[in-house]
Amino acid sequence: MKIHEFQAKQIIAGFGVAVPKGRVAKSPDDAKAVAAELGGKVVVKAQIHAGGRGKGGGVKLANSPEEAAQVFSRIMGMQLVTHQTGPQGQKVKTVLVEEQMPIERELYLAVLIDGAAGRPVMMASAAGGMEIEEVAAKTPEAIHRVSIDPVTGFQPHLARELCFALGLTGDLMKPATQLMTSLYDAFMAKDASLAEINPLVVTKDGRVLALDAKMNFDDNALFRHKEIEALRDKDEEDPSEVEASEKGISNFIKLTGNIGCLVNGAGLAMATMDAIKFAGGEPANFLDIATANDVNKVVDALLIISRDPNVNAILVNIFGGMARVDIIAQGIIEAQKKMAKTVPVVARLAGTNVEEGERLIRESGLPVIRAEELGEAAKKAVEAAKAAA
Ligand code: GDP
Ligand code: MN
Repeated sequence: MKIHEFQAKQIIAGFGVAVPKGRVAKSPDDAKAVAAELGGKVVVKAQIHAGGRGKGGGVKLANSPEEAAQVFSRIMGMQLVTHQTGPQGQKVKTVLVEEQMPIERELYLAVLIDGAAGRPVMMASAAGGMEIEEVAAKTPEAIHRVSIDPVTGFQPHLARELCFALGLTGDLMKPATQLMTSLYDAFMAKDASLAEINPLVVTKDGRVLALDAKMNFDDNALFRHKEIEALRDKDEEDPSEVEASEKGISNFIKLTGNIGCLVNGAGLAMATMDAIKFAGGEPANFLDIATANDVNKVVDALLIISRDPNVNAILVNIFGGMARVDIIAQGIIEAQKKMAKTVPVVARLAGTNVEEGERLIRESGLPVIRAEELGEAAKKAVEAAKAAA
């Protein structure tokens, strides 16, 4: 789960990370009031769940309360396009007003999970403020990493190592170490999957602050963080993913291709997406329906997939163990009756109650395209999508 910058800043500030003063403004007059409280010079920041807001025109300086009101009006409601939003952009519904910082240096700092090591890693770079993906691709040596043993925690020697790598010497070392330690504490306490500060700034008067903040959380740990779950902003999420999760279909991820997939098992879902790509197609979603022996859930899933305007074909790949193929078959039949547009369905069905499932599909008379194995199914789905497009 993702949250907004202002929410991430509130969380990390609670653990001791220094952040600029400021708050969310509700109207131009409110922005003016916040600016006046902060001494006049502010930065007005669009709050969307995507990075690259600065380049896209969503982060602007204002040098007086009047200007803050004007800039607020320009940013609030704008359709902000960044490299992370896609070409359609994201509508700005929340705006943060903060004090301006006299920036001396912009650095990068993040804590995330190193899946290969199975432990947290803190990453830092002197090349802050820009896209870290670009730094990683062009100058990987400019990113420093320290692996953290979760039993002993973030030790002072790790902070010193990063401080030296970033050139944070002398009087800067103490506040930088405190900030790193606090960021790690917040990351662990909240079961985050990412806590990223880009840029981490050194000010002309020798302070070290988080000018931006991004936090992502492990969905599987949200049950023990109701306060984090309460920060969820569904306006920022893909509507089809929101609908899927509301209907109890939790493993649905919207993608950009044109072949919808309904599969049981995450591994099989990944293999199905690979097979589609191998056959020259692009998957429109990832979906692990799991052992949903519930016709309604199968229907809901197929309807959500078919409503995607990009979808020209649906590949149903079921290997029934605990999952019953006859229930999936009933779902396919019901969904085909309810689909607003006709989307060809390719079905590769195997396992428990497959004979019954096949009988149901045969007797329904619906034009379900049958396949015996996965490669064949993917090929037929790609062909069907091409023919339907
Ligand atoms: P992002 O583009 O979505 O990552 O948004 P950021 O919060 O990182 O802001 C983008 C850029 O705006 C930063 O890298 C800074 O260069 C600039 N910026 C943000 N706040 C301030 C500020 O208080 N003072 C100055 N001078 N620049 C700022
Ligand atoms: Mn940033």
